[in-house]
This record gives sequence, C-alpha cells and structure tokens, in this order.
Amino acid sequence: MRRTHVRTCHICEANCGILVEMDGDAVRAIRGNPDDVLSRGHICPKATAIADIEADPDRLRRPVRREGTGWVEADWDEAFCDIAARMAAIRAAGGEAALYIGNPSAHNFALGMQLGLLKKALATRNVFSASTVDQIPHQLVQMWMYGHNALFPIPDIDRTQLMLIVGGNPLASNGSVWTVPDVKRRISALKARGGRLVVVDPRRTETAATADTHHFIRPGTDAAFLLGLLVALDEAGLVNPGRLAPLLDPGWKAAWEAFGRFRIEALASWCAVPAEAIRELARALGAGPPAIVYGRMGVSVSPFGALNHWLIQCLNIATGNLDREGGLLFSVPPADVVMASGPGSYGRYRSRVRGLPEVMGEYPVATLADEIETPGPGQVRALVTVAGNPVLSTPDGSRLARALGGLDLMVAVDMYVTATSAHAHWILPPCGPLAKAHYPLLLGPIAVRNFAKYAPPARPLAEGEKDDWQIVAGLAAAIARARGLERPAPVDPEAALDRWLRAGTSGLTLDDLRAAPHGIDLGPHAGGRLPARLRTADGRIHAAPEACLADLDRLREAIAAPRPPGLLLIGRRHIRTNNSWLSNSRRLVKGPDRCTLMIHPEDAARRGIGHGDTVTVTSRVGRVTVPAEVTQAIMPGVVSLPHGWGHGRPGVRLRVAQERPGVSLNDLTDPAALDPVSGNAVLNGTPVEVERAAPA
Ligand code: SF4
Repeated sequence: MRRTHVRTCHICEANCGILVEMDGDAVRAIRGNPDDVLSRGHICPKATAIADIEADPDRLRRPVRREGTGWVEADWDEAFCDIAARMAAIRAAGGEAALYIGNPSAHNFALGMQLGLLKKALATRNVFSASTVDQIPHQLVQMWMYGHNALFPIPDIDRTQLMLIVGGNPLASNGSVWTVPDVKRRISALKARGGRLVVVDPRRTETAATADTHHFIRPGTDAAFLLGLLVALDEAGLVNPGRLAPLLDPGWKAAWEAFGRFRIEALASWCAVPAEAIRELARALGAGPPAIVYGRMGVSVSPFGALNHWLIQCLNIATGNLDREGGLLFSVPPADVVMASGPGSYGRYRSRVRGLPEVMGEYPVATLADEIETPGPGQVRALVTVAGNPVLSTPDGSRLARALGGLDLMVAVDMYVTATSAHAHWILPPCGPLAKAHYPLLLGPIAVRNFAKYAPPARPLAEGEKDDWQIVAGLAAAIARARGLERPAPVDPEAALDRWLRAGTSGLTLDDLRAAPHGIDLGPHAGGRLPARLRTADGRIHAAPEACLADLDRLREAIAAPRPPGLLLIGRRHIRTNNSWLSNSRRLVKGPDRCTLMIHPEDAARRGIGHGDTVTVTSRVGRVTVPAEVTQAIMPGVVSLPHGWGHGRPGVRLRVAQERPGVSLNDLTDPAALDPVSGNAVLNGTPVEVERAAPA
C-alpha cells in the first residue's frame, strides 16, 4: 500500500522535513516537506540518499563474525554472548577496553541515551569520539565562559546585518554546530535587506563565492586575525559590551590588557589578511547594527582551536552582540540538554601514553592508536566503535588501521564493512534509517529557530533487525553480565524523551509532538537570556579562561617563529557528501570526480603540474596519489583535499564507493599535531610536498 510518511532527514544538522513516499517497505520518492516548520520545503541532494541506504545490497542485515578474510552471519544472542565472554576475558587478564563514538550518534536521540550504559559496562576511561576531530573547542570554551558545554551561542542569521564567517562553509555543510536549513535563502535575505556577508577562508568556498567580501587567510593563523579584530576594535574605541558589561567578571579587564600587547600589523602579516581589511571589518562589527562572528570547522581543527573560540566569544561580547537579536542567541529548547545534563569536565585525569587531559570525559582521538599500540599496564586490547569510521576521519588513519588489526577484540556497530569496521571481529548492523524514530535532541538546541518535531518510524523493524539503541543496550547488558557487574536496564527512549519535554518550559509532551507531524514552531530565539541561562557558579560570564589567556603566549611564539617552507594542506567538504557516511549512494556519487587536490596555478606551474595531472602528496606521516585540480579558488601556498574518501582499502565492501574510492585526507594529517588546550586534532595546515607523479 502506498503511503506518505512525514519525516525528518537525519543526515546532517539541518534537520529538514521530508515526505517519504513508500509502497510497503519500498521507498518510491523523497521530497522536501513544504509544511515543515523549520525547513519549509528545503532539502539538499543528500536526502534522496536515504532511499539508497534503505535498499543498499551492501548494507548488512545481520550480525557478522569475521572468519579468516570473510564474514559469517550469526544471530544476535550468539553475537552478544561471544563478545561479552571475550570482553570479560580480556578485562580479567588486565587488558583495557576503549569506546569510539562516531558523529551519527549525535543525530540519533535513542542511541545517545544508551551510550552511558555501554561506558559503564566497559568501565573504561578510554572514551574517544568525533568531537575531538572537530568541535571540542566550542564545548570547552562554553563550559569555561558560560558554565555549561552545551550553551552554544546561535547565529541569528535571519535578523542580522553583518555576518562574518571564519573557517565555515554552510552552503556545503548546511550549517555545522548550527541547525540552519536553506542557508542559501537566508544569505540572500540578508543581502536583500542591505546586510553583508564576509567570509575568511584559505579557499574560495561555495559560501565565500556568494559573500560580499572574501579574504584568504593562511591556514592555522585564525587566532591572529581574530585578535587583530579585537585590537582594532579597541583602537577605534568601539569596545562596548552594553547590557552584558555588569555580567563580565574581572577576567574581561585582564583579557584586554593581554590583547593590548599585540600589534595589528604583526598579526596581519602572519595571517595574510591585510591590516586595513582587519580595521575596516572591526569598524563594521562595532558600528552598532546587529552583527555575528561565527567560526566553525576551520578554526576548530587548528593549532589554536580553543583560543580561536574564546576570541570569537570576546568579539561577540565586545560588540554587544552576544545575547542580542540579530547577533548570537542562547536557546531554551523544549527538551533542554543544559538543564538535564552536567556542565562538562576538563583535566580530571590524563591519558596513559601522552598524558593528555580528558575533555568532557573523553581523550583526544589523535591518541587512540598510541593507547592500542603502546605495551604496558592499561594497554587497550578491545575496542567498540559505534557509528564511526575513525580510520578515515582521524589523523594518520593508516596507522590506526594497523593498530586495529592488532586488537584482541574489536566490535563495530555499523551498517557497512567500512575502512574501520573491516578490522572488527564482529559487526553489529542497525536497521535502516526509516525504521528509526527521530527527535533532534542535541541539534534542536542549536537551531536557528526554536522548534520541536518528532517522527515515528516509517516502517517496522524487519525480522532480525535491531535499532542502534537496542544493539548498544543489549551489548552493554551482555558485557555487564559477563563481567559480574550490575546489569543495566535499557533506557526507554520515548519515555525518557517525554520526561525531558515535560521538564522543559514549553509545556509540550511527546503526545503533542505526535499530533503535529510537521513540527511545532516555538518562534525565533529571544535576546536577554543572560544571566538566567548562565550556569557559572557566580552567575557571571568568566571572560578570560585561564588556559586561553595563557595560550596567547604560545600564539606570540608562533608568530615570531620562522615559517615552514612548502605547501599547507586543508580539508573541504561538498554538498553531495557527508563525511564518509554516504559514499555508497549511487544518486550522490554521480558527477565529476570530487576527490582532487586543489592547487593554485602559481604553485602548480612551479612544480610543472597541469590540470588533471596525477600528483603525489607527501606529509610527515604518509603519501597519497590523486588528480590535481588547478584553480584560483585556493590561496597560493595552500592545497586542499576533501575528507571522507579512501574506500579502496583492503576488506571494504562498498561497491558503489569503490568504483571511485578516492584517497583519505587523514592518511596525511598528523596525530602529533594537537591543540594542546582542547586536545582537538589539527587537520588543517598540515605541511606537505606535492609533485607530479611519474607516469605509470
Ligand atoms: S540539508 Fe540535506 S542532508 Fe541536511 S537535513 Fe537537509 S536534506 Fe538532509
């Protein structure tokens, strides 16, 4: 029977409403939902990939156990029992366990609710996630300044007059750490009302191409640019936090004393954005109309990730734009993560091998291979990955792949045999996306408008299928039982969601959301949420976190140090990709080869490289071979590879992806390079050599 299901696309943070036309369990069409309260009909090409995932013959339908170089199907009880027994034996023999949580878990409210059970059953501090490859600096700075790691200031793009984006490309990402469907229309509206978009990026990205102004910036130097803006604001007498002034603790004064020791010309020379451009932009930001400074992936995956995010907060405060309509706003979502969870943590304990501090209960993922490979008490001998592909997404993936191959037990909760799960002893596949319920528990709170939307499963679980949350809860229970620990009860996701909603201020219940499939619009966010929303002990903004203030000395040293010769590598993403998630979708992979090395014509000419030539790219840790794309869209001295590619590794079973597997950016990025404050991996600015490959 044909039926149209009202759903939310779960693939990226934008949470677009979709209408899924199904004939029984078969998907006939997917289109944007014009009645969706948030996205109003917008979708991007990725939504249609849901049909490919549902029907994909490469998607695993049953647990599989590795036998030699092949896989054997098993039932769930056998899988849970064998894994639990092996895990218990490893732990009893003194081996450590580790857990890696991939980015899709943030898009799945029911799964997220069970992860605590698995952490408890594994009883390990070796927890890693995708957060330390891209976003932990946001959370850390928010915890330090506002008292809770989830207090994300949301860019109010619909009411601003000036938006400065540093290291972000929302036209390709559809917003990142910012749920903002149809950002293209919102940018057009900004321009139509006389506003201005400025993008600062080493690449002329899709977003930069639509901007009123684009400045190239040398990778890894954003802190100098942001600091230059602050110094220029002060120079112009435009520092005016307005109503926030009484909320700022004495750190605010200390911060400005430290900023005043830097000179704009030196900062400009290091970051390669002209001093006059910095001064002009500072004047515009401080001119009075609402303005936004938003920094994303490019500033997080930098040697100064935490410092960058602190400086961004300082800019928004100094211009009076934090907690102001048209500036940056704090949400009060219907299911309130801030009220329902702890504030976060830092440095309570350190990693065994490199002594890196935990952040939000996790270690930097760049040290996962160290923990597996380094012998001694506490060595990781067993690993569970949940919805993650760290071989492609974390630095020096090839080394990590070798390390995974030496584990006594690896379990992957994954739909596919990927570059990571290919190393597992067991793969436990969740059901297809349309058999899952959806509520944007972690992404709704960072949405451009306040809203609530729940979608029940569009189809029942097929025989033998399990939802991710059931797998993780079942695995946790089996491991706990085998280890003689208290057996944890699974969290009923819908009951828990209903409790969270009832505890919020909206007065909504899950039944209300069931009755409103297109969602409930709770309006634009309001300014003036501070100080009520702050979670600091004294109810003030802690304006100068000690570690960030101290990090200015490291910045000063970096500016004074000689610049390394050669090219700097940065990543990029495309609207038709989503990390490594969608590489097996026939609908998405069509079109020109997207895994190319962008290189500026001057750099190409110097090396005798022509457009389309095959080149080798070599870093301290690895080498890849890839076609060159000679383009003015990249800054001289910089080259770019997209991330999420490299499906040609042995054992991978993604037949569509393997037709054009590409190479992995993270075979070049260096796990030794970290932001020492936040532990975030440095994925941008990797020094590389590029040369034309010898003809085969
Ligand atoms: S922008 Fe695309 S991938 Fe993201 S939620 Fe919307 S349709 Fe899905």
